[in-house]
Amino acid sequence: MSILYGSYCLTLKRKSGIIFNMFIWKGSENMSTLILAIESSCDETAAAVVDSGRKILSNIISSQINIHTIYGGVVPEIASRKHTEAISHVVRAALDEAGCALHDISAIAVTAGPGLVGALLVGVSFAKALSYSSGIPLIPVHHIEGHIFGNYPTHPELKPPFVCLVASGGHSHVVYAKDYLEFEIMGRTRDDAAGEAYDKIARILRLGYPGGPKIDKLAKEGNPNSMRFPRVHFKENLDFSFSGVKTAVMNYVHNMQQKGQPVNEADIAASFQEAVVDILVENTVSAAKQKNIKTVCMAGGVASNSRLREKMREETEKHGMKLYYPEPILCTDNAAMIACAGYYELMAGKFAELTLNATPSIKLGEKLK
Ligand code: ADP
Ligand code: MG
Repeated sequence: MSILYGSYCLTLKRKSGIIFNMFIWKGSENMSTLILAIESSCDETAAAVVDSGRKILSNIISSQINIHTIYGGVVPEIASRKHTEAISHVVRAALDEAGCALHDISAIAVTAGPGLVGALLVGVSFAKALSYSSGIPLIPVHHIEGHIFGNYPTHPELKPPFVCLVASGGHSHVVYAKDYLEFEIMGRTRDDAAGEAYDKIARILRLGYPGGPKIDKLAKEGNPNSMRFPRVHFKENLDFSFSGVKTAVMNYVHNMQQKGQPVNEADIAASFQEAVVDILVENTVSAAKQKNIKTVCMAGGVASNSRLREKMREETEKHGMKLYYPEPILCTDNAAMIACAGYYELMAGKFAELTLNATPSIKLGEKLK
């Protein structure tokens, strides 16, 4: 038995001859506990070192946006190849910037799903190899949970329970975070994610990829009430649907083009954004009201949106709720948020064996194996 920064590492040998490590965490919340995290679920290769789930020591992100912009969206095969090229440099840079060596690390956290399977596999395989060669325990992290944890480094005083809107390129969820690792999905998208809708409308308006920040900027010059695009509500729950608003914008643009009339891109961007923001805010505030919760958080790339932040602040204030969101670098994909989630998994003694696989379509709350 060897002692590993507050955890006990038991090396056991199975009848089959396979050696595996079992780690029993004995740390306390006040101990300095460094988590090295790896994130490669989409088009960012990222690694970070975070102390005790809150203090970021390094947060390295190698973005592939320039390559995918050429194609107007993420090309999965290119993403996997670029992750393979970048990952060892990114992990090395994260350790160097944090001023620590691998033996200072208490656990290696890795995004194991959801995401693009080839992209996830690069991070998972690298983390497994590092864990095997160093004897440092491996912790799988759910990507959407990771986004929620992105709030903690920006707001060290934040504690569950709270309601969190997670809106990114691949996901739109309203989540009730009962505790650090206990989540209930109160609403989810039935078709496109909010960020995906932004990206598709930006494509129609020929603004380039990723569309969210471009529409956010252009909308500031437009009139949000110039067109009324649909807002979809479901009676039975707080689900979202953004395909209707996307189709309405597409039809409007095509109609105008067929008639040879000019389109006012800024007005379209502002009116589209207003429809999306209205429904995101409404469902999130309704969820907090249903749970009688006064703390509301936002996470994911779309949480950077200036109109969403403004409107969510107005509406939460009206209901006496306090609003939190991460700084922009912790909204889009990054590994610091994965390290924060990994810390709480470590405290709960949740580790992975070296048989860990990437799970591209795992739902929030399901266990990664
Ligand atoms: P995923 O985890 O699904 O890859 P991210 O959390 O990295 O997504 O977020 C990327 C998404 O966020 C993209 O769809 C992008 O257009 C959107 N996004 C980023 N900034 C903004 C913004 N200011 N307004 C709206 N959407 C944004
Ligand atoms: Mg993400």
